[in-house]
Parts: sequence; structure tokens; C-alpha cells
Amino acid sequence: MRKKIVAGNWKMHLNKKEAINLNEAVSNNIPQNNVEVYQFVPSVYLDMLQERSTIKIGAQNGYPEDAGAFTGEVSMLQIKNIGIQSILIGHSERRHKFGEDEQFLKEKLDAALYHQLEPFFCCGETLQDREQKNHFETVHEQLHASCFHLGAEAMRSVIIAYEPVWAIGTGETATPEQANEMHEFIRSVIAKRYDQTTADAISVIYGGSCKPENASSLFQQQHIDGGLIGGASLKSKDFLEIIQSF
Ligand code: PEP
Repeated sequence: MRKKIVAGNWKMHLNKKEAINLNEAVSNNIPQNNVEVYQFVPSVYLDMLQERSTIKIGAQNGYPEDAGAFTGEVSMLQIKNIGIQSILIGHSERRHKFGEDEQFLKEKLDAALYHQLEPFFCCGETLQDREQKNHFETVHEQLHASCFHLGAEAMRSVIIAYEPVWAIGTGETATPEQANEMHEFIRSVIAKRYDQTTADAISVIYGGSCKPENASSLFQQQHIDGGLIGGASLKSKDFLEIIQSF
């Protein structure tokens, strides 16, 4: 069901004490504004934070096989088993730094849904795609290749995070109009593949250098249902201000 979301992606940051402090500072000061708040945390902190947090804790990654000889990996089944409900799939750093391709992301999405983990499926174009005016085609292809095999009911439980690669961690933000235009496009291709009810039910959130100064103009756009926040989620004050700006 479509909802308002602000999700922090901590990436590979923070020591244990800092992780606890940040989770507490956010949990204890959540504004009452119907926004669902998540923190996607490093896997070493999942169990600990899951036990104490009053806001949702999500995993940044998970392996699609349930168990086996995959040294260093953590399976979606293990993640689900400790009580985690949500997971990031297709983040541009996984695509570009770890070579995760669309077929693998499709397997991850299927495994997440099989284990009833709520997937945040990230998509977005590179700067080159945008400069060559291929950004709509790129995002459509990412959705088509990894998501559009799903039935409508499964698709409705996916949250889409549009994250233009050129805006992630760069300080560059898509303008509210650029982001809204892409979100509207995403909804239109979902409506074409499924139906308008499905397209209207899916939350499409924006990520890419979202911060307190630009959050409210992004969130005011008709097709933007929230944000996936990297850098600014590491400071409770900034993250809370972003949640507040809804
Ligand atoms: C992200 O990691 O998903 C992200 C959007 O990062 P940042 O906000 O730092 O650009």
C-alpha cells in the first residue's frame, strides 16, 4: 500500500556506540506525521538494533540462497529469522562496485519476497545515460529486467527507490521537477505493465543527496512518496528534519 517513507541508508558507517546513539536519537524524537521511518544498517548491527529499536530496521543486502558455501554472505532467510522485515535491493553501489547485474537482482527480489521481506528496489541512471537522454529507457529496462516478471500482488509489496547515480553521495540533487518527472514515468510504466490501481498503490521514493534544505521541495511533488537518505541519515538532527519536512 502506498505510504510516506523516510529511510536512512547508513552504508558502511558508524561504530557500535554510534549506531546505538543514532538509533536512539531518531527513535526517541520521531514526529507524529504518519511517515514510516527506517534505518538500513550494516549487517553486524541488525540483530542488536532490531531488538531495541522502535523504528524499522532494514538490511542493506542479503544473499538469495538460504544456506550453503557462500563465505562472507548473509542469507535473506537468516535476516528474516532475526525479525528484520525490509531489505535494499539494487542499490547503485551494489550494481556498480560489486557487479550485481539485473538477473542477480531479480533472484534477490524473488528471494526477498519469498521470505516476506519488504524489498526497496533501487533503480536510476548514470550521468552518461542522462546526458545521452537515455534516462527513461535505462530505468524502464531496470524495472523490466528485475521486477516486471512479478504478479501484480507481489509487485504491490515492492517499494521503488529512484536514485540517479550522479546524485548519490555527490551533493548533486535532481531538481524536484526532474525527480517528479521520473517518478511519474515509473508509475506510468507500472500502470502499463499491470494496471493503474497497482501503479497508484506503490510507493516511489527519491534518493540522491537529499538533505534538510531540499527535502520539503522534493516531498511536495505529486509522485514523490518519500526519500532514501544516505549521508544525511548519519546525523540525527538532519535526518529528523527531513522526516519533519513532510
Ligand atoms: C543512498 O545511499 O541511497 C543515497 C541516496 O546517498 P546520499 O543521500 O548520500 O546521496
